[in-house]
Amino acid sequence: MDYDVIIIGAGPGGIFAAYELTKNNTSLKVAVFEAGHSLEDRKCPIDGVKIKNCIHCKSCSIMSGFGGAGAFSDGKYNITNDFGGTLYEHIGRDAAIELMEYVDRINLENGGEGTRLYSTTNTELKKVCLQNKLQLLDASVRHLGTDINYVVLGNLYRDLKEKADFFFMTPVEDIDKTDEGFLIHTKDKDYSCGKCIVSAGRIGSKWMEETCRKLDIPTKSNRVDIGVRVELPAVLFAHLTDELYESKIVYRTEKFEDRVRTFCMNPYGSVVTENTNGIVTVNGHSYDDPEKRTKNTNFALLVAKHFSEPFKDSNGYGESIARLSNMLGGGVIVQRFGDIIRGRRSTAKRIKENFVTPTLQAEPGDLSLVLPKRIMDGILEMIYALDKIAPGTANDDTLLYGVEVKFYNMEVDVNENLETAYKGLYIIGDGSGVTHSLSHASASGVYVARKILE
Ligand SMILES: Cc1cc2nc3c(=O)[nH]c(=O)nc-3n(C[C@H](O)[C@H](O)[C@H](O)COP(=O)(O)OP(=O)(O)OC[C@H]3O[C@@H](n4cnc5c(N)ncnc54)[C@H](O)[C@@H]3O)c2cc1C
Repeated sequence: MDYDVIIIGAGPGGIFAAYELTKNNTSLKVAVFEAGHSLEDRKCPIDGVKIKNCIHCKSCSIMSGFGGAGAFSDGKYNITNDFGGTLYEHIGRDAAIELMEYVDRINLENGGEGTRLYSTTNTELKKVCLQNKLQLLDASVRHLGTDINYVVLGNLYRDLKEKADFFFMTPVEDIDKTDEGFLIHTKDKDYSCGKCIVSAGRIGSKWMEETCRKLDIPTKSNRVDIGVRVELPAVLFAHLTDELYESKIVYRTEKFEDRVRTFCMNPYGSVVTENTNGIVTVNGHSYDDPEKRTKNTNFALLVAKHFSEPFKDSNGYGESIARLSNMLGGGVIVQRFGDIIRGRRSTAKRIKENFVTPTLQAEPGDLSLVLPKRIMDGILEMIYALDKIAPGTANDDTLLYGVEVKFYNMEVDVNENLETAYKGLYIIGDGSGVTHSLSHASASGVYVARKILE
């Protein structure tokens, strides 16, 4: 055996699996294979001046590399079973929360001390939401911020690289079952191991799908969330964000009874682009450092779309809507709420004269030409509902960027140990379809590490 355990993917799932394995058994031989760069080499070439659009690097530094998709994220670790994944369905609610709290303590020990933990417990805002047909989901959220998140990852790597072998820019091409364990194939060499943890995340979803098909591991997929990112003056949401930082609010539309929810709230943050397999969508950031703050708050409004048989390609559906916006706007489109309501496109002049200054240079356009009516109607209804708890949300000057798509990995058939039908082959994190967040993905890594150590 080359290694006792091989971990595929150095996102939060892989990092926390490696952390727990090497902390509790220093004689274990552990290797981590990562398709992307090491943390310090992760650099997106888009600088907004020389390079304005995605040039499709061999490895996307936003989504890949040490730290995974979360490396340049806002670092919001939500400790909750209400959203962020369904880990609790496999391991139990209490165990899931305990693991998320454990991950939080490790983050604090590695540079996150001093960051704030927000909570919805005892908040009056819950009642105010209910009075206005909105539901505020329960959670505690540790906000590390993009800057501190990076520091924590750096510290974790400094410690881990002494205890495990890291192979960067080394995508795993294939996994084979052998009599003793598994054979991991990379371009240049094969490596044998007793156990294998796969944590390939969002960017590894296609590879994960092929691997499952080849190994005959059952999967299912039927959901995609589609919507926009809303940007407005931070002061309008300050009563929510000062107390809760991130409020996950759900609304059921009157017209179609669809669920619309707020997602990834970034107080005093910036809107950014995201590239998934060459498709440019929108996302958001915010920083812990007061000097990097903007005057705006941004958050996504997403409509959940579940498909029934015979349609199976929910992600393909989301991708084609994103492609349509890329076709019309060359990337992300921005539109004033007032323009949407008046049925006209936004223009550079209208955006320039807008009271809210955009934090992302996007193409002014018409989102109603991109988003299906049902989704657009849901978003507009939700904006009016939010206007009741945060007056000003439905102002003409509120900016909507599109499209934001939340892709879901297909769900891989794993048991209560997050182990496949192959003994010793574990699939964790977002790549398993079980988690969709930093805290759940990290917790799943700790969980399987402990199972292996047992
Ligand atoms: C811009 C942005 C902001 C976000 N903000 C938040 C937030 O504030 N809070 C939150 O909870 N979540 C956030 N998320 C989601 C969060 O980042 C993910 O849920 C989390 O990173 C999932 O962790 P993971 O380890 O499962 O997968 P990932 O972080 O996606 O890591 C998977 C890794 O595996 C590697 N890989 C894939 N295939 C292979 C292969 N074949 N061989 C070798 N390596 C491979 C990839 O390169 C990648 O580095 C954000 C995501 C983005 C993109």
